Amino acid sequence: MGNFKPVPGNIICDALKDEKTIIMACNVRVTKGILRGIFKAAKKSDSVVMFELAKSESNPDGGYTGLKPKDFSEQCRETASEVGFDIWALHADHLTIKKGTPEEIEEMKKLIDVLVKADYTSFAIDCSFLFDFEKNTVEEELSKNIEVTAEIAKYIEEKMQGKEFGLEVEVGEIGKKNESGMVLTTPEEAVVFIKELNKRKVFPNLIAIANGSTHGNIYDERGKATEQISINIEQTIAVGKALKKEVSNTRIAQHGITGTPRELIKRKFPVEFILKGNVGTFWQNIFYEVLKTMNHELYEEITKWTLENFREKAEKAGCKSDEEIIGKYIKYASGAKDENGKLLFFDKIYSLEKNIEKALEARAYSEALIFFESFHAVGSAEKVRQHLKRIKG
Ligand SMILES: [Zn+2]
Repeated sequence: MGNFKPVPGNIICDALKDEKTIIMACNVRVTKGILRGIFKAAKKSDSVVMFELAKSESNPDGGYTGLKPKDFSEQCRETASEVGFDIWALHADHLTIKKGTPEEIEEMKKLIDVLVKADYTSFAIDCSFLFDFEKNTVEEELSKNIEVTAEIAKYIEEKMQGKEFGLEVEVGEIGKKNESGMVLTTPEEAVVFIKELNKRKVFPNLIAIANGSTHGNIYDERGKATEQISINIEQTIAVGKALKKEVSNTRIAQHGITGTPRELIKRKFPVEFILKGNVGTFWQNIFYEVLKTMNHELYEEITKWTLENFREKAEKAGCKSDEEIIGKYIKYASGAKDENGKLLFFDKIYSLEKNIEKALEARAYSEALIFFESFHAVGSAEKVRQHLKRIKG
């Protein structure tokens, strides 16, 4: 029997930080078939993989996926063991603090207790909302983010009781726009942020920056789905270079990859600076594409629910078509509850027939292989195994 428990995120990052490879991190919001497909592709290509869900997606109430941290962790561990794949991490994505109030921080600490108990091996603290645009210097703009990020990082360290873990932090809000377009993280912001955290004895492996991507599916002004080609490669390289020069051990985590053409990722992404790439909505899109054909009745039920419940909100937010409303809001379906707290679609989704599960698995398998290839990740797991051998002596 091998050991198929999740590997600490910091060990994976340390092993690969100068290997010109991107670790794929998958937010698998609907795990049915898809989790196994990705694990099998990781094994086939010997690529490191991370599985992650954000606080909004998974928490002790279920979150919008309906998966509690313990459920997600168990499913990942069981699948790793069934497939027989060893080099993967369990990451808590977007542990988001929006205001930085004591109550909010307390609530976050309770969630961290749950995550640590569920064997998470990596954590992303996201206090990017605390960036203060009113201030004049970079230090002042970032001071609240630095302070709260450090407090939460210390808390994780304490709770992990000497166990190793990966740490990601977030300097600029992903997808934020102002009058002149996307707000981009500057090299100075990234460097000051990490240096200040280092001064407080917090040493992140990864930093999420705002570099032109948007979370989720994107649409044009008529509400038609479009590809994402907005990631600013030049700015990413500038930030990456500054980080390597000034703080050495922290690499970039690229958020919001869904919709970015894979050949563009493969040819243009600066792999010497980007170490982790998050792919979330893509896997959910696969689920609904397969469901649309293989169980049209449930697909109709879910899309009807999405349109009924989110049309008003979506139109206020500028959605231009039913396609766009569904693409942006269907994520809330799998964990949706009725007024009595009963899950609406969860049991139907997770009891779908075997042939549908197989199709989902096969589809996820082939897509994951393409991602690993475009992330230059094929063979990366062996590099981590070698690193593990070295550090364990
Ligand atoms: Zn993200």
